[in-house]
Amino acid sequence: MPRKRRRSQSCRNLKHDFTELRLDAVTRHFAHGAREVAALDGLTVTIRRGEFIALLGPSGCGKSTALNCIAGLLSLSAGSIWLDELRIDPLPPEKRGFGMVFQNYALFPHMSVRQNVGFGLRMRGVPRAEIEKRVARALELVQLRGHEEKLPGQLSGGQQQRVAIARAIVVEPPLVLMDEPLSNLDARLRLEMRAEIRRIHRSLGRATIYVTHDQEEALSMADRIVVMKDGRVRQIGAPAAIYSEPADLDVARFMGYRNELAATVEHVAGAEVMLSGGLHGRAMGALTPGMHARAAIRPEDLALGTGPLAGRVENVEYGGRDSLVDVLLADGTRLHVRSAQSAHLGEHVGVAFAPHRLLVYPAG
Ligand code: ADP
Ligand code: MG
Repeated sequence: MPRKRRRSQSCRNLKHDFTELRLDAVTRHFAHGAREVAALDGLTVTIRRGEFIALLGPSGCGKSTALNCIAGLLSLSAGSIWLDELRIDPLPPEKRGFGMVFQNYALFPHMSVRQNVGFGLRMRGVPRAEIEKRVARALELVQLRGHEEKLPGQLSGGQQQRVAIARAIVVEPPLVLMDEPLSNLDARLRLEMRAEIRRIHRSLGRATIYVTHDQEEALSMADRIVVMKDGRVRQIGAPAAIYSEPADLDVARFMGYRNELAATVEHVAGAEVMLSGGLHGRAMGALTPGMHARAAIRPEDLALGTGPLAGRVENVEYGGRDSLVDVLLADGTRLHVRSAQSAHLGEHVGVAFAPHRLLVYPAG
């Protein structure tokens, strides 16, 4: 068998079609001085073909570690990864053949767009005519036809990221992995690219795992979101569920529930809970009378008007169609209220809300 052919076979992707990717208690430790620290601690999640999954969490929570473990760039300390019935975590990255897109594009600066996109196929020994055809198709998909002969330096940031995406998808990988691919782009382009990436995902019909620390990005793009903190999964669910029913106070804080009130539980009736101070809310955990609780609510779910809370306006931040009004309560709690109504510094105001928007968690 000629040499080229053999190489192309050994570097071939596993398979393009799969039903699900399963991560089973995937764990990765790093040595920090004399200590071993778990960057990823027992990540278990199943990703189905066709799904767009976002790994969401604050910086340092283990998102990139998870992605690199899936790609094969990092070995596991414990656990396993399965593509249907095949265990893939012992395989090197080139045997898995997943497409990767990074934050910093990582294009070859001296190669044209065409050469950058075709690089992976050349390495696999794919025949020239086939490369031409597939590169053209990938560039069509990311809407970069006509830019084939340009160098990366002659392209805008958004176009460079499209080249990186074309390069990742040209090998028709079973799985596309993206690590904060939009964080180097300006705000307007980020919005545009969100829709673009969704469109590309749909036309490929495979699975995408997308790492981000931006809640809005995750909410707007993903079919399901995996919320992580300190190397662990806190919640897995559809965007609407993560947004309106955060599993715990940390997830709530991360998802924009900026206001918190300390209170004591007085009465619980099903999902309804009555708190000290005459507050009504929604029970988000096992609550019993006498228990200390923390109630969380978003600024946009509070309104100025007659309600169970009252305080003095401390700050007003004008925001166009509405303003962010800080209200200082008598007990020292500061509330952030997104209000269409204007308010004056020092003014005494009431704060109202719909009880089902006030999420009540056990404290501590
Ligand atoms: P994220 O992508 O969510 O910001 P990372 O996965 O990059 O987080 O990092 C998770 C944790 O693992 C961090 O505490 C980070 O310092 C640590 N970490 C990541 N890579 C390494 C490494 N190569 N060596 C040592 N520690 C690492
Ligand atoms: Mg990262």
